[in-house]
Amino acid sequence: MDTTITTGDLRQKFLNFFQDRKHLLFPSDTLVPDDESLLFTSAGMNQFKSYFLGEKKDVSRATSCQKCLRTGDLDRVGKTAYHHTFFEMLGNFSFGDYFKKETIGFAWEFLTKILPLEKKQLWFSVYKDDSEAFDIWKKHIGISSDKIVKLGEESNFWPANAPSLGPDGPCGPCSEVFFDRGSDIGCRRSTCNPDCNCGRFVEVWNLVFTQFNRKGKNNLELLPQKNIDTGMGLERMAAVLQNKESNFQIDILAPLVEEVNKLVLKSFRPNVQSALNAIVDHVRAVTFAIADGVYPSNEEKGYVIRKIIRKALHHSRSLDNKEPFLYKLVPLIAKIMENQYPELNQKKDNITKIILAEEEKYFSIIKEGKIRANQVMKELSELKQDVISAEEVFRLYDTYGVNLDLIKTFAKTKGFKVDEEGFDKLLKEQQERSRQKSMFDEDIFKEKDFVLEESTLFVGYQQTESEGNLLRLFLIKDGKYNSKKEVKKLGCAEEGIVLSDITPFYPESGGQLADKGQIQTKEGNFLVEKTFKAGNAILHKGKVMEGFIKQGQAKLSIDKNRRDALARAHTATHLLQAALRQVLGEHVIQQGSLVDEDEFRFDFTHFGKLNVKEREEVQNLVKKFIANQDRVEKNELSLEEAKKEGALAFFKDKYQNKVRVISISSYSKELCGGTHVENTSFIKDFHIESESSISSGIRRIKALVADKACKAREAVRQKENICKRENNNVNIDITQEVRILAEKIKSRSSEVIKDIRGIKFLSYLDQTSTFSPKEQRQVALEVSDILQRELGPLFLFLVINTSGKDIFVCASTKELVSRKINCKDFISLFQKELSLKGGGSPTMTSGVVSERNNDFFIKLREAVNKFLKQ
Ligand SMILES: [Zn+2]
Ligand SMILES: [Zn+2]
Repeated sequence: MDTTITTGDLRQKFLNFFQDRKHLLFPSDTLVPDDESLLFTSAGMNQFKSYFLGEKKDVSRATSCQKCLRTGDLDRVGKTAYHHTFFEMLGNFSFGDYFKKETIGFAWEFLTKILPLEKKQLWFSVYKDDSEAFDIWKKHIGISSDKIVKLGEESNFWPANAPSLGPDGPCGPCSEVFFDRGSDIGCRRSTCNPDCNCGRFVEVWNLVFTQFNRKGKNNLELLPQKNIDTGMGLERMAAVLQNKESNFQIDILAPLVEEVNKLVLKSFRPNVQSALNAIVDHVRAVTFAIADGVYPSNEEKGYVIRKIIRKALHHSRSLDNKEPFLYKLVPLIAKIMENQYPELNQKKDNITKIILAEEEKYFSIIKEGKIRANQVMKELSELKQDVISAEEVFRLYDTYGVNLDLIKTFAKTKGFKVDEEGFDKLLKEQQERSRQKSMFDEDIFKEKDFVLEESTLFVGYQQTESEGNLLRLFLIKDGKYNSKKEVKKLGCAEEGIVLSDITPFYPESGGQLADKGQIQTKEGNFLVEKTFKAGNAILHKGKVMEGFIKQGQAKLSIDKNRRDALARAHTATHLLQAALRQVLGEHVIQQGSLVDEDEFRFDFTHFGKLNVKEREEVQNLVKKFIANQDRVEKNELSLEEAKKEGALAFFKDKYQNKVRVISISSYSKELCGGTHVENTSFIKDFHIESESSISSGIRRIKALVADKACKAREAVRQKENICKRENNNVNIDITQEVRILAEKIKSRSSEVIKDIRGIKFLSYLDQTSTFSPKEQRQVALEVSDILQRELGPLFLFLVINTSGKDIFVCASTKELVSRKINCKDFISLFQKELSLKGGGSPTMTSGVVSERNNDFFIKLREAVNKFLKQ
């Protein structure tokens, strides 16, 4: 056999063959489909759904090589020759054009004329009742009947088992092509055929003839438009052509297996192939997924990616690997796939960073969790117990983020048991609590309570005032309302909800808070405190301030100052997104926002903390956009046009066919229904107040605009000046970081502060901040200062670890020093025991921890105990 056919050749030959036969070449669709019923793109036909349904008719023949992600077989990947989570699928499609005869003819021609496969190597299957397909293979192609196997609906129908089990809808029989690896392979029985699972026959192509519409059990009606959908696994066919037993040995995978081997396996070990293969599969899957904008997180798609990364690391740990390495494979993957997927090369630096951050997180969880779990087990064994209680397990899980499986692994190695049942109960209780909390937090007004036929015309983009007709009124009494019962009028001082046919009030949506204002009628005056949407209607909630209001003519006017302040903040979110993408990269995508008066928060994807320089660059860029005095343009386009123009869409929003596009100069273009200023100069000023993490891979910026920004900056400056006067070495950039760290410690005060002999002792290890070594000592000093001020008299010991170096600060207060609790004394007494090097004053000493073992903090507490005993 010709072994020179590379996977790239195969891909190209297939696509050329079908293009020569009038098929339109479609590029691979993204892995993240525009289809809520799918988590990831799992087959070539996904992107052609509307052609299949006859909704689109401009193309009747198509071909593609589609990247696919499937997680159903995650546990089998690596152990078998052909399972993958990520793979490529070649396919040809007919939408009401050609059918069985041509499909089978094309397949035969491609396999035997274009590919060097021979008749004797190929077998076929058809659905047992599909005599049409059987006859085509037999009479038209000339295959002998004993090589055409008739199979049942479980393997040769799409969807599987559709006739008897459903679902209703389009379906049809399949015909499969098998490659025969030879009678000396597998079971070696003379009766072996493609229905045997011994490994002799490899399924290489599945041809689906979508000809029926199922309407109930075994009731198949013929479809007016018959379709063809075929799928050939690229890697699998390449393995056949390259004469390899496993997909992992083909030209695009073997170099990766070899590289993983080099990175992970330090010495020879038997039986490692399945782990190496799985790692290769998984790292490819996450590389492609991240390139398509899915980041590891705890939700939905992101969670799948996190799970795949952890699965790969889990495999590597079984080979004794204890450090991040997956990220090192990204450049090689990008290089191998360069021709077909050039975007990987462009994005490889970001992908590398994201994977590395996720790997570091995994290993630090394992490390911390192991220390914690060992401590717990040590205490238990002193008490002669061997079960880790549900409460302990929950604490490890909740506080340290160690999942149950890992706790079980730690426990098992030391002969401990885990109270799993109790843990499940606690977990459920916690979920229940947070559910109740969120119910409590929610506003009592729910749009879904109102089922209204009316639709309100929103005129607020152009006007701040309008005439309207009040159509319905609802009374709110003691905080309750009945959405099904209308009232004739709302009397003075009564609260209520009002529906108008026309309104300039912007209802809360897309993260932008609602307009406030008033509704005036001949009879009275209604103060609008909130505006919200119910279906296509816009409702105003508020209180009658004067007279009464009833159905009929009214004048609606919004609070212009509030609207201006909301608009300034909203346009600023667009400027911020543009700036973040310019400074950090195109992987930054909005994940949510809350737009208030001259202030907002903005959540976005990014893998790590912004450093001081990045943050400054972002801030300055937004300020530059403001200084540019760029016009903010608003246009109505069709969704397709908008996407073509590259407008950014906020994926959680639902879009109508007509969308509003907000463009600012050449740097920002977003789909957005919010209200905006006319010119960026109206925003006046911009100041980032904080930048923090809200979940893995998602950051939050809180920022201010206009006068609020100006005031906040002034306050920071003043504070810095005071600091400067006190200490000439203060680095002004770190003020913000210090505040965040102090807040973090404060939020965990119940854990980190221990009462030792009547004195509050705080010990804390910080490993997540990204201070430069030069800043560490300064940060530690300032943080202890804040904590002392805000938590009262403390004796504290703080360790900040960055780039492998531990800086400590030990601090006391004047009042404690007068009671002989002097940190200088403490350090000199215990410097040897705790491996400390440093010095300072009685209220403040600092230095380095030259060696910090796992039990450092236990030893530290013992030392404090001894010290206070004196
Ligand atoms: Zn067999
Ligand atoms: Zn917007």
